[in-house]
Amino acid sequence: MKVGIVTYTPEKVEGFDLHVYYAKWADGSVFPVAKEMQNDVTCFCDARAIREDPSIVAVSKNGPALRKNRKINVPFDFVCPTNPEYKAKVLDYIEGLSRENIEGVTLNLYHFPEEEFCVCSRCVSLWQQSGLNWTDWRAQTVTNFLKEAKSLVKGTFAVEMFPDPVLAKERFGIDFERIAELVDYFHVPLSSRDYLTNYWVDLLARDFVKVLKKPVVVELSAEMLTDEKTDALLKTVAYLSRHNLMGVLLLVHDAENARQVCRFAVNNSAFREWLRKYEFTEMTRIVENWAKLY
Ligand SMILES: [Zn+2]
Repeated sequence: MKVGIVTYTPEKVEGFDLHVYYAKWADGSVFPVAKEMQNDVTCFCDARAIREDPSIVAVSKNGPALRKNRKINVPFDFVCPTNPEYKAKVLDYIEGLSRENIEGVTLNLYHFPEEEFCVCSRCVSLWQQSGLNWTDWRAQTVTNFLKEAKSLVKGTFAVEMFPDPVLAKERFGIDFERIAELVDYFHVPLSSRDYLTNYWVDLLARDFVKVLKKPVVVELSAEMLTDEKTDALLKTVAYLSRHNLMGVLLLVHDAENARQVCRFAVNNSAFREWLRKYEFTEMTRIVENWAKLY
């Protein structure tokens, strides 16, 4: 199993095999490419663009796809995915990244906000012209966007998703079968403030490995570092290492944050004894590798 980082700073860290950099964020911030890294691009969530032009937001009978709309529950502000001008801007950015020496591109939030979106006049008209049912039209819209994006990407192509293995197509238009034909791997974010309770990580990792027809990497949050939380995080990674995953990614603020996790594992003899006693051979190998560096 590979181990990697997802980071907000364009810097690789020794001891990790996968390096993902957040290049374009849901708040609308856009950053220059991170060379030799996997660049992660937020597609249709852009709070700044919606503030500048509120008419681009995705809409439903319960109102717009905004965090402040309490009739729905969305974690970000969503642009309508069929908005031609906004879509062109995102594709332009992806094309620009691919002109640089990068490892590849990961896309996130490239889908509809929820099942009841989007009913703007353009979406309704496109749906009616398609002759498809609502679910299939939305899935086709998302898959076609990913096809277009992939045609511009040089290197590894991956996508994130809302971690719903059952209803992804109905809710978001995420059709795992079709998307598997396009991507090199799936990136499943299982974010949390801590992993002191972790059965759900195991559960969702199992489900996604079963459902997805391409390699899977799971992302865990590692920005919150008390000893208790870091210990729980590392034990959760150890359990994940028993599944058939391509890798585990740790979300960190920066390189020092990643090194802190490594040092904690290396210097924690109780944890290393726990790995040995319960025969976590893959995790033991990872920590022994960190011990040579940290
Ligand atoms: Zn729309």
